[in-house]
Amino acid sequence: QFKETVYLDKLSMISQMAASIAHEIRNPITTVRGFIQFLHKDTNDEKLKQFAPLILEELDRTNKIITNYLKLTKPSETDFSKVEIDTVIKDSIELLRPLGMYDNVTILYQGSGNHYVYADEHHLKQALLNVIKNGIEAIEHGGYVKVTKRPGDDKNTVAIEIEDNGKGMNQTQLETIGLPYFTTKSKGTGLGSMITNRLIRDMNGKVEYESKLNKGTKVLIILPTIEMK
Ligand code: ADP
Ligand code: MG
Repeated sequence: QFKETVYLDKLSMISQMAASIAHEIRNPITTVRGFIQFLHKDTNDEKLKQFAPLILEELDRTNKIITNYLKLTKPSETDFSKVEIDTVIKDSIELLRPLGMYDNVTILYQGSGNHYVYADEHHLKQALLNVIKNGIEAIEHGGYVKVTKRPGDDKNTVAIEIEDNGKGMNQTQLETIGLPYFTTKSKGTGLGSMITNRLIRDMNGKVEYESKLNKGTKVLIILPTIEMK
């Protein structure tokens, strides 16, 4: 319990610091962009004519990265309502099917019964997308990501299992997953799992990871359900 508290404090400190730095970087970038555009407009300098568009493009890219990052660290306002999770799971899978196909990964779904949770639908979808995407990315030469929805072991809960037969994680990786900036991918951010954990926790749920190196990973998302009348 104590460890968890310290970890969360550290986490919010890091993301607050990063967010304010990102904010401050944006202003000078906007100024530089304005000047380049101004110089580029009525110049006879061939080199400036040739390279200004590239500079502008890169500045825009930087801005986009910062905007996306800020969105990640500060998840938008929550909007809780009664959500039927079958639809959310299916939507998430359909969104990722093209990526799966590209990577030779089949995404399967099996769900029984109707389960309603009190949640922010977009956040739930974001959490599922993060986990399923990790599953796809863990598979190197084709495989599957199997999503299963079933009643949870505890009363009034639902369990969503996301299982892949990818490269799995070793003990150290398993202990580190969810810490900000922990990534083993060349283009990873190491933020996905941290955000997933936080979003699910905000819905009073929990996320558990099981993994075997070279065998695969199983992520278990458990959410409290609400009674339907
Ligand atoms: P990112 O995907 O950007 O690396 P995440 O927070 O989503 O960031 O994941 C952190 C790390 O956890 C990944 O880089 C990977 O090493 C490990 N990981 C997460 N999910 C899986 C999985 N399904 N199989 C194997 N490793 C995983
Ligand atoms: Mg990820």
